[in-house]
Amino acid sequence: MKPDSDSLYRFVVEGCNVRGQLVYLDQSWRELASRHDYPPVVRRILGEAVSAAALLSATIKFDGALSIQASGDGGLRLLIAEATANGTLRGLARWKGELHDGRLTRLLGNGRLAITIDPGGNRERYQGIVELQSDGLSQSLGGYFSHSEQLPTRLWLAVEEQRVAGLLLQRVPEADKEKPWLDDDGTSADAWRQTVGYAETLNPTELLELSVPDLLARINGDRPVRLYRGEGWRFLCSCSREKVTEVLRALGRDNLDSLIEERRQVNVNCEFCNAEFSFDAVDVARVFVDDYHVLHATRH
Ligand SMILES: [Zn+2]
Repeated sequence: MKPDSDSLYRFVVEGCNVRGQLVYLDQSWRELASRHDYPPVVRRILGEAVSAAALLSATIKFDGALSIQASGDGGLRLLIAEATANGTLRGLARWKGELHDGRLTRLLGNGRLAITIDPGGNRERYQGIVELQSDGLSQSLGGYFSHSEQLPTRLWLAVEEQRVAGLLLQRVPEADKEKPWLDDDGTSADAWRQTVGYAETLNPTELLELSVPDLLARINGDRPVRLYRGEGWRFLCSCSREKVTEVLRALGRDNLDSLIEERRQVNVNCEFCNAEFSFDAVDVARVFVDDYHVLHATRH
């Protein structure tokens, strides 16, 4: 196992307003991708979405989850990648037919790409629509964040069978006007352009294989970089019998009773992790008994 496996690293380029993150997903990626028999083109876009979700979630201070969702009428019907503030990931894709052209706009056809931020607690979710760019997911998401956060943001994503990797660079606002290197705005603009320029020369294999110090040296030249300790990531699905029970309750007693009559058992499968939740006649009755108690409790 590599020392940087399943880890996200934050870094700040000293003396100029550039910060960034590197993420490597190994075991977490393999577990996530092995849940379905994805064709290579779908697997690749799913890997990109998962590493992008981890990178983007780490740019926000929150307790909740960030998800990237895409849907369309092309071969790629649905794509979801979710990263939580606790360092857990899950994701899935649905597709149809044989897919060979991996370009995002071709895969999705007439499609839609969105980012949802669930801040956690009872706070309201926020969803933003991302303009699809034919160059791919990293360009589309970078463009969206540059616009919505007013921070120039660039992403590079690389996917292979065993590992996915991602690099995010952000040009941050000038917080302290007293610092000498900020007197001349040209200095930080140059640093940004240079770092992005070096990052552009990385090929996917280098992004996946270079050690963290080597990669940082490659994109920052001789500028000193402050590197923070790695944060661990893992595959974990947030599904539970309680959540499935809520969904069943929302379907209504009549619908469930007729399903039970027809099939004797209601099976709900979680597409993210393949967990199966079975409800027989007794379980279904209990779904609504609990409901009765809740109603009863709130009335008194
Ligand atoms: Zn699940």
